[in-house]
Amino acid sequence: MDDVDLLVIGSGFGGLTAGALGAATGLRTLVLEQHTRPGGCAGDFALDGFRFPAGATVITGLEEGGILRQVVDASGAEVHSSPLDPSIILHVDGMTLPYVQDHERWKAIFREAFPEAPDGYVRFWDWAHRVGGAVYDIGTALPSFPIQGLDDIRRSLPALQPDVVRTLPWLVSTVEAVKQRFGAIGHPPADRLIDGVLIDATGATSGTCSAVQGAIAIDLYRRGCQWVDGGPAAIAMALVRATRRSGGEVRFQARIERVRKRTGGWVARTADGDIVRARAVVANVPPQALDALLGRHVEREEDIDSWGAFVLHLGIDGAGLEGIDPFHQVLALTGEPLPPWGENAFVSIFPGRGTRWSVSVSTHTDVNSWELPTEEVARHRCMMEEALVDATARAIPDIQERIVLQRSAIPRTFEHYTLRPRGFVGGLVQRPGRSTFRAPGHRVAPGLALAGDHVFPGQGTVGVALSGINAYRDACQYIGTGSLL
Ligand SMILES: Cc1cc2nc3c(=O)[nH]c(=O)nc-3n(C[C@H](O)[C@H](O)[C@H](O)COP(=O)(O)OP(=O)(O)OC[C@H]3O[C@@H](n4cnc5c(N)ncnc54)[C@H](O)[C@@H]3O)c2cc1C
Repeated sequence: MDDVDLLVIGSGFGGLTAGALGAATGLRTLVLEQHTRPGGCAGDFALDGFRFPAGATVITGLEEGGILRQVVDASGAEVHSSPLDPSIILHVDGMTLPYVQDHERWKAIFREAFPEAPDGYVRFWDWAHRVGGAVYDIGTALPSFPIQGLDDIRRSLPALQPDVVRTLPWLVSTVEAVKQRFGAIGHPPADRLIDGVLIDATGATSGTCSAVQGAIAIDLYRRGCQWVDGGPAAIAMALVRATRRSGGEVRFQARIERVRKRTGGWVARTADGDIVRARAVVANVPPQALDALLGRHVEREEDIDSWGAFVLHLGIDGAGLEGIDPFHQVLALTGEPLPPWGENAFVSIFPGRGTRWSVSVSTHTDVNSWELPTEEVARHRCMMEEALVDATARAIPDIQERIVLQRSAIPRTFEHYTLRPRGFVGGLVQRPGRSTFRAPGHRVAPGLALAGDHVFPGQGTVGVALSGINAYRDACQYIGTGSLL
């Protein structure tokens, strides 16, 4: 029987944030993770001498004052990062566009690439920079949305800066409405570029994406992209170490099977039959998974408005690739039939030991499209792998000759390794009716909060770090101690 102040279920970025902050606050903290490594969708795995990211590769929020940097500093984690500019290389219609931080330079690059695009597109980029900047500032003030009580008002007050007014007119709009307003219409290659950047960070394209979330999604790449050796998984490991240094405990291969309310707190049981009594619990799992742990009615998984991921992992001979930009977004050619990977494939290149480099190529996929007989799944997988190798050739032209090892992950792979129901990843699609002030809240019951990409502010490691901060603050308040952030 373990008796702790704070039990964290899962060591994704949401759970690790809550756990590392809890331990640094002096709470008796226990993080239980069912897998053998931390990080969840932003973790990693090793295969035949290659180390691959499980999902997330791009890191934002580690710059001075950024959300992740605040977590790292407050928890005492050691994470060394350096700015990455350009953050990504966009491959669109045979062109290669560096997505640079300097706004005027980016507009010049865009203009040169698309001389026939109406001026409205440049006004749209200005809008995204302006509103995205305001949302960025609001985010770094660590607000707690949706407002469900006085605590949320108190925590969110620092975010009420003059810049907030910039976001107000757009709160219920879609990105498409903004594009129309500025005259950013009628140029399919530029539309595809905008949609490609949007879907990767929000799960939605212009027509359905919340304008405010869209602005920050577009602009974040140009505000705080950082390089960390080892990628997001290295940050996850640094948060584990920080938790342990502060006296907290992180255990792997420890799956929670059941959570129940008890007088003065909560009781959880692991698959091995261990019992944990905790005053407060942070559940870093999707809401449906928490419902199952609580023995409640579980929402039908077909109703989840979210994506699956297909990821091609290539172990390659990286000789001669030194200095290559690490992140490439490959967009489908306009005017041609969509390739099997859809509109956008994201190529991440990680140098490894010697010339053993890792390349991971991810794209969105409909989870339901994988509900096929086994041999059909294998065929579908082969076709996707081939198509994604072709897409990768836009970033590394001789990729075929370099491949030493090839594997892929489908939604079932994510379900298996992260326990996310049916392999839905990336959190809820950021539609206007369900983002920012109207995002799903993190509170479940007194002393029980969710952290992760299904609650405010949504997907991405930096987003779930904010959800972890809010869940941790709730735990502190419930226990009756001050919080570090
Ligand atoms: C292919 C792909 C690419 C992505 N690219 C990026 C990117 O470049 N940049 C970015 O910022 N974000 C990216 N994301 C999104 C980002 O990875 C996720 O939004 C984020 O990591 C989710 O974190 P989380 O805290 O919600 O939980 P998860 O990562 O889902 O972690 C939950 C953890 O809880 C554990 N767990 C679950 N149930 C139990 C249980 N019962 N008992 C114990 N442990 C349990 C799981 O094993 C897991 O470790 C990407 C996602 C994917 C899938």
